[in-house]
Amino acid sequence: MKLDGRVIAITGGARGLGYAVALHLGQRGARLALMDISGDALDDAVSALAREGIDARGVIVDVADEASVEQAFAQIADTQGPISGCINNAGITDDALMVKAKQGQVDKRMSLAAWQRVIDINLTGVFLCGREAATQMIEANQTGVIVNISSISKAGNPGQSNYAAAKAGVHALTVTWASELARYGIRTGTVAPGFIDTEMTASMRPDMLERIASRVPLKRLGEPDNIAQSVAFVFENDYFSGRIIECDGGLRL
Ligand code: NAD
Repeated sequence: MKLDGRVIAITGGARGLGYAVALHLGQRGARLALMDISGDALDDAVSALAREGIDARGVIVDVADEASVEQAFAQIADTQGPISGCINNAGITDDALMVKAKQGQVDKRMSLAAWQRVIDINLTGVFLCGREAATQMIEANQTGVIVNISSISKAGNPGQSNYAAAKAGVHALTVTWASELARYGIRTGTVAPGFIDTEMTASMRPDMLERIASRVPLKRLGEPDNIAQSVAFVFENDYFSGRIIECDGGLRL
């Protein structure tokens, strides 16, 4: 798909990977709807993109809230026109081992709240935004692309059973939507980042990050633009749908 003049929505677009995707697609002519829960971060991101000559608007949304998502997509259609792309990128972590024991005594467990918060934002949020994006494209008779951001941490990373379940589910949505939406001219793709230098990874312990970087065959964390390039590939390749791109420097968890 040519990006020139197309309206592309990006959840979690105010920071990190979402912002890098916005910059990359904006430099290729897309008009952007940055959707984020943080109004201040949105203002900064829209101003920074404007300085690059990129047409972007900020839309406040909580991706886990159905009414908020419906209202946000309606706002985009009203102010910028119907979308032809949606990148479901907003996500959080809330790590805890499922069960932690000392000398046979369980003293900590992942709370239901920590489980639910991550599932609500990282999985239900993708469903809600993907559903709204597809509805808008179909009603506007517009072909389009939906890209879901998963992770290489979708199984086996201790402390991340909530995150892993959500991210594995995200790819299941991508595959299923590829079958359901092809008849409307809508393609899908998953991009699964490895460890990329953003605020999310900056919150990890430096010694842990160094250990991870040393295990990556390319011996470093990725840059946000590496993920943006993978997202752009899904848009550009008209025979790509329902599949996953792992962009992780070759790291195997
Ligand atoms: P980040 O924390 O830097 O940015 C996430 C953005 O999402 C923020 O702007 C935040 O305000 C927004 N957000 C959070 N909750 C929201 C909600 N309920 N509604 C709307 N917006 C919300 O994170 P990042 O590193 O840029 O990660 C982006 C995506 O990439 C996430 O889905 C994450 O799981 C995934 N990912 C990141 C890495 C990495 O190494 N950074 C690796 C694998 C996967």
